Amino acid sequence: MADTPKRTDVNQLGEFGLIDHLTKDFGHRQLTTLLGVGDDAAIIDTGGPEQLVVSTDMLVEGIHFDFAYTPLKHLGYKAVAVNVSDICAMNARPQQITVSIALSNRFSVEALEELYAGVRLACEFYGVDLVGGDTTSSTRGLIISVTAIGRAPAGRITRRSGAKPGDLVCITGHLGGAYLGLQLLEREKQVFLSNPEMQPKLDGETAPLLERILKPEARTDMIDLFAKNDIVPTAMIDISDGLASEILHICKASGVGAIIEEGNVPIAQEAQLQALEFNLDPITVALSGGEDYELLFTIDPGEVEKVRFLPDLFIAGEITEASEGVQLHTTGGNIHPITAQGWNHFEG
Ligand code: ADP
Ligand code: MG
Repeated sequence: MADTPKRTDVNQLGEFGLIDHLTKDFGHRQLTTLLGVGDDAAIIDTGGPEQLVVSTDMLVEGIHFDFAYTPLKHLGYKAVAVNVSDICAMNARPQQITVSIALSNRFSVEALEELYAGVRLACEFYGVDLVGGDTTSSTRGLIISVTAIGRAPAGRITRRSGAKPGDLVCITGHLGGAYLGLQLLEREKQVFLSNPEMQPKLDGETAPLLERILKPEARTDMIDLFAKNDIVPTAMIDISDGLASEILHICKASGVGAIIEEGNVPIAQEAQLQALEFNLDPITVALSGGEDYELLFTIDPGEVEKVRFLPDLFIAGEITEASEGVQLHTTGGNIHPITAQGWNHFEG
């Protein structure tokens, strides 16, 4: 009897394990490839004083968005914004994008015009040019993939790997809102499915949360602020998967640990209230909820005066030695290890 070929389920490796597994043996042939897989964007040498950064992100119907509550124009805008966010995470400025779509015959020209109205709005807002893409069919649903190209002076480009013990951990903006916005939309969808006569119960108080999930913004304003105030973070990442996952990425890439102060993690008041209404702990939402697209970065403690009074900037912790692990110091005075799922109540 012939041997059955080996079949490993991709879930056994997880997303990052799978990426490592598939890309580990590639190496680089080009001297211009300064940084490949493993950061928010790759870094490419131009031969001049500036370097290019390149990043791709794909959004898939039914996985990343649901047309029950995602307007096409918002989707087009978001597909660009999330890619621009990865360029920001390198401390670079976005300049060009390509947009590729796969679509079923469910989508009309008018629907695609709406999608591209959102893409255009984002191009205008972020000052980027649409320079290409690809269009093809899919058997079911819509897929949109965007590649963004940015640029920055070589000395300003920020990787995930430069954090040192003693550096301060900083966060732009507030966390948790996008996840709560998504929970609200999911709740209203379920209500609608069980009774289509019911009108959505979404009011002025929930509007900022809905905006966080439906129309996220990349923090290009922070990149400008860093340049103006002569700030170069030691490490940076954008917060697409929740604070826990992102601080773990920085710590792993930099070979360090960190301690995050629960009381200093920025969570907007409306998010705090909504979390409690859903019976969720606000810090858990900030750690594990995704899609806020704020920036998480570290700076040398000698630079603290440069960031202390900047608007929308919060110092939430400190980088430690790797041996200390990645930890949360709770407002109750306890210390818990931070795990990719958030934080573990049962250890520490
Ligand atoms: P981000 O959350 O910043 O968009 P990801 O977690 O999607 O980054 O990806 C992590 C790294 O792995 C990036 O450098 C990305 O370019 C790379 N990567 C992801 N998927 C693949 C793939 N299928 N082949 C090669 N590289 C990939
Ligand atoms: Mg990223």
